[in-house]
Amino acid sequence: MGCVKTWDVIIVGGGIIGLSLAISLRKRGAKVLVVERGEPGREASHAAGGMLVDCLLETPAALQPLATASAGMYPEFAYELEVESGMKVDLRDQGTILFPSAEHLRHKALATLGAACVSELEPAFPASDVRRQAFYLQERSVDPRALSAAALKTAKHRGVDFSTGDPVTTVNLSNGRASGVTTRKTAFRGAKVVNCAGAWSGQIGPHTFPTRPVKGQMLCLAMPSRTLLKHVIRTPEVYLIPRSDGRLLVGATVEEAGFDKRTVPSTIQRLHRAALALVPKLADARILEDWAGLRPGTPDALPILGETPTPGYFVATGHFRDGILLAPITVQVMADVVMGVKSEFDLSPFCCGRFSS
Ligand SMILES: Cc1cc2nc3c(=O)[nH]c(=O)nc-3n(C[C@H](O)[C@H](O)[C@H](O)COP(=O)(O)OP(=O)(O)OC[C@H]3O[C@@H](n4cnc5c(N)ncnc54)[C@H](O)[C@@H]3O)c2cc1C
Repeated sequence: MGCVKTWDVIIVGGGIIGLSLAISLRKRGAKVLVVERGEPGREASHAAGGMLVDCLLETPAALQPLATASAGMYPEFAYELEVESGMKVDLRDQGTILFPSAEHLRHKALATLGAACVSELEPAFPASDVRRQAFYLQERSVDPRALSAAALKTAKHRGVDFSTGDPVTTVNLSNGRASGVTTRKTAFRGAKVVNCAGAWSGQIGPHTFPTRPVKGQMLCLAMPSRTLLKHVIRTPEVYLIPRSDGRLLVGATVEEAGFDKRTVPSTIQRLHRAALALVPKLADARILEDWAGLRPGTPDALPILGETPTPGYFVATGHFRDGILLAPITVQVMADVVMGVKSEFDLSPFCCGRFSS
């Protein structure tokens, strides 16, 4: 009888969180299997805009330490993936111009932001907008599709194993500990399991994490000239994210629509009109694509990170609007937790037990 293959860690879900955690655990010497329902990197991590938002006005206070740490880790995180995969991830550091909302204007943190001279930063803005109050944020952006593709290639290079096209239905237990996963078609044995299944995390037994899908629709334009806009622009109505190849992402809705990923033409048109109102020079820009994705939301809009009540079963999900930003720090703290090392961060605001009354 042949021996049954076992892994040190089985990761459920091959989005940016699962892929980058797999790489990190592999670097620490673990044998790792990623079990992905479809194709890796094709869900929320494919749909995201890629703003690396680290702003007191917009980040939940409890998340601020992780957000700031992760934003600081990005250049090295992106560089390593680029070197190991031979692919570019388009990390840009031109910064963000923020047109504040009425709610922002009541926020004390506003005083800490630098005023932006919009006409100097973005000559494409019409004179009327140049007079609006705006702030400059030293934030980066990245191309999440390229990032996920680079993470997938790196994981394969490093010897992470993959099972694709077959969903995990439950985490198996033996003597009260995680011992692997059952999928629709088969089962895999592993001493530890990490649930990184994004908006679907709550569907995998035995624990029911309160994750839910939060739909976001976006579109992508081809800028009439590659450098028409250089900065990420955020207004209360819309955000614009330029890519170095001349694409411009326009986003995004935040909708409670279940697991429905269809785009709605009138919604895409509304986003398109908001982009044109902001930058009239986009009038001739071609629409290249539109799409929708499902953010992994939680009841308190904070991620769920750490060990579950079942020994050997861990969870890293619920990254909601910031999963691309939070990938580097999530991977660092989760690799520590999975390997039994105490994290330097206080993870209690993110523990999965916080939802049980
Ligand atoms: C429109 C939009 C814009 C966004 N913009 C930004 C942004 O600008 N900046 C930012 O930081 N974040 C942004 N986000 C959020 C970000 O995309 C997510 O937080 C992040 O991608 C979550 O990564 P993940 O790996 O947890 O989830 P996902 O990428 O969704 O990956 C989860 C994976 O698990 C798989 N899976 C699910 N169930 C199972 C199962 N039973 N068995 C096996 N596999 C399973 C799925 O197929 C999927 O591949 C945006 C999201 C959307 C939708």
